[in-house]
Amino acid sequence: MTELKQFRCVNCGKPTGALYRTYGPSVLKLNKCAKCKCIVDKYIEYDNVIVMIDAVLISKEAQRHIIYNTEFKSYWKLFIVLMLLETYGVWRNDSLFNIAINSLCGIRTKATVNTTYLYIPVDISMSEWWKHQCSGWVYEERGDDNDLFIWEKDFYIQFLSTFTGIVTFISTVHLIMTMIKPMSVSLNEVSFIRVLKAFSMANVSILFTLPMLVWGNADTSAETRTIHYMLVFAYSFVVFFNAFTVLYESPVIATLVTLLVSNTVKYLMTFHTTPFLRSLVT
Ligand SMILES: [Zn+2]
Repeated sequence: MTELKQFRCVNCGKPTGALYRTYGPSVLKLNKCAKCKCIVDKYIEYDNVIVMIDAVLISKEAQRHIIYNTEFKSYWKLFIVLMLLETYGVWRNDSLFNIAINSLCGIRTKATVNTTYLYIPVDISMSEWWKHQCSGWVYEERGDDNDLFIWEKDFYIQFLSTFTGIVTFISTVHLIMTMIKPMSVSLNEVSFIRVLKAFSMANVSILFTLPMLVWGNADTSAETRTIHYMLVFAYSFVVFFNAFTVLYESPVIATLVTLLVSNTVKYLMTFHTTPFLRSLVT
């Protein structure tokens, strides 16, 4: 009889049939890995809080446990909530992405000038097409209460735009990683659901933008915001790097390049989608 090898050893990633054996109603013994001789998954005996803490500390073991050895049914809820958070930051014109756009496009309005606009000392000359795309990002001044509907509509536009960016990101990662699969350590197929689970798990790192979104105000300087968001981005990048290493088991350089390319494609996509959607509805 062939065993269904759906679980993984959290230490080395080797597929395994079961995590533990039961000897009666209250006795169970954790299995040992055939390859690395360690306990296949120590986390099944741990409290969820410990698993969460280890995941925040970017432990590959905890990531393997979440991606392979738990059901993690609510990944899509997490996916949507985190997408809403990301949209909220961009919609509020308060994220690293907005700072980059405002600074590169030279958007200097009342809403950006002291908080999300950084002066760039070098001269960047852009083509007319890029300038046109930039103009699609100029935020109208928030004023009267009666234009609340416009702001709500803009949230939907940003939501769609962020969604497009995320879909592009996941597709790019999956496409490149599948193409370079022959280079990787293991040739196990990576299912799309698992990619979504890994993405949702790693994307939890954007929760660290919350302190700035909650406590940042008009007096918070653009430099402070930039530093905070850059630290979050760097942390997030490492979390994603580890998650995709666990998932695809590709060489370090390949994973690193894939992540850089996918991030670039994602933000370029979002950058072009928002002006396009805005031009459709106005
Ligand atoms: Zn092992």
